[in-house]
Amino acid sequence: MDVSFFFNYQTEYDEKFRNTFNGLKNSQLRDINFDGFKYVLQLNPMRIKSSTADITKPLDSSKCFLCKENMPQTQLGLDLNTKFTLFVNPFPIFQKHFTIVSRQHVNQTIIGNTMIMLELAKVLENLVVFYNSPKAGASAPFHCHFQAGGEDEMPLFYQIENLKKLYTEKSENGIFKINDGTRRFLVVETKDIFKADEILRKILDGVNEIYSTQEPEANIGIIFKNGFFRVIVLPREKHRPKEYSLEGDNRILVSPGFADMAGIVPCSLPSDYQKITKENIQSIMSQVSIEEEKFSRL
Ligand SMILES: [Zn+2]
Repeated sequence: MDVSFFFNYQTEYDEKFRNTFNGLKNSQLRDINFDGFKYVLQLNPMRIKSSTADITKPLDSSKCFLCKENMPQTQLGLDLNTKFTLFVNPFPIFQKHFTIVSRQHVNQTIIGNTMIMLELAKVLENLVVFYNSPKAGASAPFHCHFQAGGEDEMPLFYQIENLKKLYTEKSENGIFKINDGTRRFLVVETKDIFKADEILRKILDGVNEIYSTQEPEANIGIIFKNGFFRVIVLPREKHRPKEYSLEGDNRILVSPGFADMAGIVPCSLPSDYQKITKENIQSIMSQVSIEEEKFSRL
């Protein structure tokens, strides 16, 4: 389903959305180049709430911003299936940025939702449907949701062939283990939704085993395109890098979620946008990405 009509309807219907997305078109971008891939810094002051979200306090449904009854009246929804509704993201990173929200106020989890995520990717063909686990960038870990955006804005997706060629450590049966020196991640490519689901669940079980967790901490992106699924799983070592808690000028307010891991790093502070170096990106991404030794066991 092409949901451009819905995006256009929402942005024409409501001035706030229109202004937000028009503003995003003009946002400043700065490339940080590595060998064969890049990260893009994006100056995006709207993201301050997300990058500093306190995810330790449970939010009950009366205050939850993903519960429909608390959304502004001008926020339109499009039901994608019996459980999830599509909205235009009011705090976007991508030129077309959607949230896909459970109609029930239930915890963010990927366990039991892998097939739903694959089906959503199929419904939203050509868009990347992505997931942030509770301690890997989800600003609302108390309400189950996915997001979606265009792969042409995600270097990890549009540079994937380069990354596979240059940095694959191991590959078999359409599964690639890749370490590009900043991130360690897995890519699964298949036409078969059941195979994709089985492999994805196996990977997430593996993550749970390594970290002794019940809920695997990872960022996941799935695109369905030309009849193929491409699933990218980025297991996470930690929620925030040490730079996040430094004092004064050394502090960098980057709290990586899927977008950052996929190569687009929203900076809510102009000072961060200006000062972040290649070394900073290297340091931040490799800290939050699964450690090499654990990756080798996955
Ligand atoms: Zn809620």
